Amino acid sequence: MRPDATRLHRPSPLISRREFAALMTGSLTALAQCDQAYCDQTCGSDASDGGYVDAHAHIWTPDLTRYPLGTGFSSKDMVPQSFTAEELFAACRPSGVTRVVLIQMSFYNFDNRYMLDAIAQHPRLLSGVGIVDHHQPDVAITMKSLASKGVRGFRIHSRGQAKTWVNDEGMATLWKTAAEEGLAVCPLIDPAEIGYVDALCKKYPGAPVVVDHFARVGITGKIVPGELDQLCKLAKHPQLLVKTSAFYALGKKQAPYKDLLPMIQRLTDAFGPERLMWASDCPYQVQGDHDYESSIALLRDHANFLSADDKRWMLKKTAEKVFF
Ligand SMILES: [Zn+2]
Repeated sequence: MRPDATRLHRPSPLISRREFAALMTGSLTALAQCDQAYCDQTCGSDASDGGYVDAHAHIWTPDLTRYPLGTGFSSKDMVPQSFTAEELFAACRPSGVTRVVLIQMSFYNFDNRYMLDAIAQHPRLLSGVGIVDHHQPDVAITMKSLASKGVRGFRIHSRGQAKTWVNDEGMATLWKTAAEEGLAVCPLIDPAEIGYVDALCKKYPGAPVVVDHFARVGITGKIVPGELDQLCKLAKHPQLLVKTSAFYALGKKQAPYKDLLPMIQRLTDAFGPERLMWASDCPYQVQGDHDYESSIALLRDHANFLSADDKRWMLKKTAEKVFF
């Protein structure tokens, strides 16, 4: 039997989390500023009945005056130089993707403003995963403030530090706040760090967790069976979900990416489609020989082991439940 993902969510039968947050913060005017013409055209009267959801993409702007890069980054890191919300929509709409979860771009460190501004402009089409400095004493307040502006999760990027997370005081606050507020913790880790996420899930079972990009199993070019086994063992934590994403970066790293299908099938058996969500990781998925359509086509057209309903979960409903 496949585990039920509904326990991740607070009951909210009458009103979505976004509408609730808008009511609480008086930002209903923001809802009115949504790309209404586009919503009407593609989503009918109800955006939640729209097309596919891309659970992971980044945006940035060449306007470095208004949105300066963080310490340690320069414009040379911006490849491509520009990938705005409009450029993202242009990439994803031809494939039937109508909503996207933005992941705060590392260039901006803890300054989430560019992402927040895009969400404020398109609140029905965009959701967000922010980045906060867990070493700051006010991290819980910062998380709640970002949540009131449409952020539904927080990325934690290991950069070799995952081993320190389980005993870190700031991380404790981050995970507890995520649990209290129903916000997702989104670890970007390497396969060798899966054990640390396992320990964190044991310690903080209340926080929803969404692991990025198969925990990067396959990033070396080879899908190591032992690493995939470890990832699948995380399924014992009912609150943990996995992004099946960043196909351009894993395995043979070559469209149509069919060498990744056995890994996706293993994950489907372990987690069930209700705990898996597809994502492109744009703009990286649309560079060089890679393109957007090849990413979504892997699940939509080539994953014959998935039923139509499985695909609906993985291409839309799982991400919708967690992030919209
Ligand atoms: Zn990414």
